[in-house]
Amino acid sequence: MKIQFCGAAQTVTGSCHLLTLDDDFKILLDCGLYQGRDEEFEDFNANWIFDPSDIDCLVLSHAHIDHCGRIPKLVKDGFRGEIICTSATRDLSAVMLIDSAKIQESDAYYTNRRNKKKGLPPDAKPLYTHEDAYDSLQGFVGISYEQWHMIKEGVSVQFKDSGHIFGSASVTLKIERNGKNPVYFGFSGDIGRPDRPILKDPLPMENLDYLICESTYGGKKHNQLPQDVEDLLQIIEETCIKNKGKLIIPAFSVGRTQEIVHTLDKLETEGRLPEIPVFVDSPMAVNATEVFRLHPECFDSDILEYMIDDPNPFRFNDLKYIRKTEDSKKLNYLEGAAIIISASGMMTGGRIVHHLINNIEDPRNTILVVGFCAPHTLGAKIRRGDKKVRIFGVERKVNAKVKIMDSYSAHGDEGEMLDYLSNLDRNKLKNIFLVHGDIDRQEKFKEALKKDGFRSIEIPELGDKYELTPES
Ligand SMILES: [Zn+2]
Repeated sequence: MKIQFCGAAQTVTGSCHLLTLDDDFKILLDCGLYQGRDEEFEDFNANWIFDPSDIDCLVLSHAHIDHCGRIPKLVKDGFRGEIICTSATRDLSAVMLIDSAKIQESDAYYTNRRNKKKGLPPDAKPLYTHEDAYDSLQGFVGISYEQWHMIKEGVSVQFKDSGHIFGSASVTLKIERNGKNPVYFGFSGDIGRPDRPILKDPLPMENLDYLICESTYGGKKHNQLPQDVEDLLQIIEETCIKNKGKLIIPAFSVGRTQEIVHTLDKLETEGRLPEIPVFVDSPMAVNATEVFRLHPECFDSDILEYMIDDPNPFRFNDLKYIRKTEDSKKLNYLEGAAIIISASGMMTGGRIVHHLINNIEDPRNTILVVGFCAPHTLGAKIRRGDKKVRIFGVERKVNAKVKIMDSYSAHGDEGEMLDYLSNLDRNKLKNIFLVHGDIDRQEKFKEALKKDGFRSIEIPELGDKYELTPES
């Protein structure tokens, strides 16, 4: 068996790993888009380091674009196998991929418009179109958590809830070998956090011989959530009541948005939320929220209980979901205090960019960063406190306050990741490959894992291949 790291190697986006079995059967784990604005990103997304038509099967951990965002291109470029994931991931991916195609089509359109003005050839093309995204959905196979699903004779896959986003799962592949013990190959996907609203706690993998493990927050500790509810309320009061400004929250349409909306919903139910208009300006968030309601198997017991009295935990009086572009544009002329939640979370595209242009230079406003932003993204620059940023080629002063609430992160911190792995047999587990983390975080996590008794921990670079030689 061989494993090759084809993405999210010493970086946090573009998750993609290729497992080649002894009989040359090729299983791709995730097929994510690299989300960033540096040159590396264009090269990475446009080119494969394998031939898509050689891949037999794709196993998808969850519907975040940095894990599924290149699937339409994979299919367009010749992949014809099944795309196996949980049922909720299948439905969410449909929403995510079509949205991603639209963003790419519109980015290409605006790039060409700019190029034309500069006298350059208008030759920017989207990575894939919405037609390609629809085509790719044909190959999806949604299965339930905990079931062993046969990929082919002697190879099966099991998903366990990883508590990261709706439908997210860890992947365990069971590979039978004639007369020998089967090999259990684990892929953590992204590891979520215990005790979070909406989602179940991450469920550990078992029995592994090999593990590909994420490492986003190696060496880090998050705030706990209860304190965050109070922090959020304080930011709302200061921005919207005291300063009569706008609170702009860039957030992933899937997961982070529903979490914040549900927190506001609960505050409203408790009578603690000030009466100010709240806008979720994202058609995808509306679609995603509908998918959520179809998959109660993904809800934790708290929200199921909350729903007995409040059947819609994502809707309250002052909240308005915005689908139409005209309605989104009206927000530009909105007077007075408001909360605007919009995507994308890393501020790389989507409607949030327009809200930033409109609000970033006004000191009454606050930009609340509620999650990780990959290096070189606009979000990363705002997050690290840059006083000036370029948006659509124009320099803007960052006069609005910038606040960070990392505990809304969907990724476990170091302690939570160690807890999640704590049941694994240190002797049986031959190798851990750390992916999905910046190198400094990965080095820290590697140290922590060593201290915890794990052996042979690798931090692969992009394209690195490892031969796996399971004991007989
Ligand atoms: Zn994720």
